Amino acid sequence: RIGLRDITKVFPGGAVALDGVDLDIADGELMVLIGPSGCGKSTLLRIIAGLETPTSGEVHLDGMDAGHLSPKERQVAMVFQNFALYPHMRAGENIAFPLRISGMDPAAQGERIAESAGALGVRELLNRWPHQLSGGQRQRVAMGRALVRQPRLFLLDEPLSNLDSGLRAELRAEISGMVRSLGVTTVYVTHDQTEALTLADRIAVLSQGVLQDVGTAGRVYDKPATMFVAAFLGTPR
Ligand code: ATP
Ligand code: MG
Repeated sequence: RIGLRDITKVFPGGAVALDGVDLDIADGELMVLIGPSGCGKSTLLRIIAGLETPTSGEVHLDGMDAGHLSPKERQVAMVFQNFALYPHMRAGENIAFPLRISGMDPAAQGERIAESAGALGVRELLNRWPHQLSGGQRQRVAMGRALVRQPRLFLLDEPLSNLDSGLRAELRAEISGMVRSLGVTTVYVTHDQTEALTLADRIAVLSQGVLQDVGTAGRVYDKPATMFVAAFLGTPR
């Protein structure tokens, strides 16, 4: 589980990206973080991952202050919008790479890769080169590579925003199924309302670095905490 305590981030030059964010994310929960461009979503994700340090405030993992832990020690896997596969490795080698560098026994690697590829429906594509895959297939392989090490935290930053809407809906359903079957604690960043409302266990709405509302999709949509949330989610009134 993740606990964010009064997280503030001020960048050099004075831009306040996050302002006193408090948020708890339960074990196995799929939290969607939504808000307009520039509101601080990626910054918050990077702080959870340990890729960025907050100016003040604390990140707790399983109740312990994780401030001193590297991304590796936090056992996070991240998937970004333009997540590049290694172009000189076949899809299967891309998925295997994190296991190979961790020194895992090759037989055990094979099993994990098959499992991961199966869950993402890319088992038939493992021998292809990245340039022989569609955008959606590439994102599936990227997610396979992220999940193959069985991370404690799965962080996704607008992973589907480069795909067309049909493919987005399909992959959304897959991500949701996968995250729930793995039970991995997940933070999913998007600025797409439909994506948030269909995917989330709970939604956290951010505006200009300030958390506006946190709750189930139904509650946040039906009874938004602020005018901003109502307008942003398009709640009818
Ligand atoms: P988008 O939806 O466009 O990806 P976002 O919600 O992810 O936006 P962030 O990338 O977290 O937004 O940025 C939040 C604010 O912090 C923005 O005003 C941005 O300009 C600023 N910012 C982000 N990174 C830096 C940096 N390295 N140095 C200075 N300012 C930064
Ligand atoms: Mg961003």
